[in-house]
Amino acid sequence: MSTTDLLAISPTAFVAWLKEQGIRRFHLVLDPASGRVNASHEQLQPLADFINADTRDFMGHEGLFFQVAAEHDTLQGAFVHRTCRGQAAGGVRYWSYETMADYLRDGMRLAKGMTRKNALAGLWWGGGKGVMAHNPTQDKTDPTLRQDIYRDYGHLLSDLRGCYVTAEDVGTHVVDMANVFATTRFTTCIPAELGGSGNPSAPTARGVVSGMEAALEFANLGTLAGKTIAVQGMGNVGAPLIGFLFERGVARVIAADINAGLAERLRADLAGRLQPDQELETRVVTVDNHDILAEECDIVAPCATGATLNPRTIPGLKARIVCGAANNQLEDATRDDEALFQAGIIYVPDFLTNRMGIVNCANEAYGYVNNDEFIERHLERDWEHSVYQTALRVLNASRSSGRPPARTAMDLADELSLQPHPVFGHRGVRIIESLVADRWFDQN
Ligand code: NAD
Repeated sequence: MSTTDLLAISPTAFVAWLKEQGIRRFHLVLDPASGRVNASHEQLQPLADFINADTRDFMGHEGLFFQVAAEHDTLQGAFVHRTCRGQAAGGVRYWSYETMADYLRDGMRLAKGMTRKNALAGLWWGGGKGVMAHNPTQDKTDPTLRQDIYRDYGHLLSDLRGCYVTAEDVGTHVVDMANVFATTRFTTCIPAELGGSGNPSAPTARGVVSGMEAALEFANLGTLAGKTIAVQGMGNVGAPLIGFLFERGVARVIAADINAGLAERLRADLAGRLQPDQELETRVVTVDNHDILAEECDIVAPCATGATLNPRTIPGLKARIVCGAANNQLEDATRDDEALFQAGIIYVPDFLTNRMGIVNCANEAYGYVNNDEFIERHLERDWEHSVYQTALRVLNASRSSGRPPARTAMDLADELSLQPHPVFGHRGVRIIESLVADRWFDQN
């Protein structure tokens, strides 16, 4: 097959082609000397060439590793971006892709994003991402299928010797993580009963509060007390966020969700906790309704889905500050970052404020203490890598350079991501060299 053919076919058709070739596992690994990606198998070099030519999502990724699940025709990948600060860490996504080009690009984009999130959080982790392509001929709700493919994914990680450590992500649930954990030690975010850290949503909400406080400080707008905040989404993060905001003395919260039951549950949770001068207004909306973002308020907090900040919503924003938990709030990371900046709206980048999901599970292997300083310091004012300090540093640097904040945060993250781990140096790249030398893909 030619390059274009291999990249244009679906991951499921690609799996069929791999099987015809007698290939179950392969890799695309960066040669540091030439700066080029090479494929483990000659017939897969077109994929490496595609990556070498890509200027959007490829950014010197150290190694991409793939397998077909043992009993089910599911393509599974581990995308290692950069391992200077430690093993590549990031969750495993289970998602549908139309073409191999989409699949490879998404994996590289997400892995690069994790390098930035981890580095900006001051974690001693590199960045990576797992991506499993849903095979449309399979019922992804089938528990047997899920058990098999997540256990196979764990086998893949064991054979990759720890250059990538996985976690939960979109399409993957805590029960799936138990299956990954059954076959590898290279995972975090396992169920609490197996030694995991549990639901990270409340710490994530606290991270968003810190981001809001930094933005208010930056804009000389005082504290949260007396402010009006609009929150999109009353789910796992939105609901505790609203509680924390009222605890900080916020006067009014306007919140929207597509699920009517969540507003009722939140009202019940907050019963007796609001002061007489505090008000909660809730709205039930349809999924394509983003009017909440255009509310008259001080801060708007997107805590629902991604891509809600775009040319259709940004012109209507009335808040001075946007700070929320949702991943990938900017529909186009460059265009919409610039549009918010030009409009004089302070945007606190999502990958900076919503870090507590990964922070919460990052150090699971080191055990648990009450008021863990390795978690709490992210939410305090003075630690140099805290959400508050990092947000202030990014916003100040953005103002003095005239570059929008998400771009500024990425530049800072890229610089931090090159620092070697204080104990293990750039060991991940040596693991990858060892895998290549030992032809890991021959192990089945
Ligand atoms: P969730 O699914 O519990 O909550 C999202 C809520 O948004 C749901 O209640 C949903 O009904 C609602 N929603 C969807 N479309 C909407 C719309 N148009 N208007 C209003 N509400 C709408 O998810 P979550 O765990 O609360 O996460 C929220 C966001 O934060 C997601 O983007 C997630 O990826 C991100 N995030 C979460 C964590 C975490 O710790 N949970 C960590 C990092 C990032």
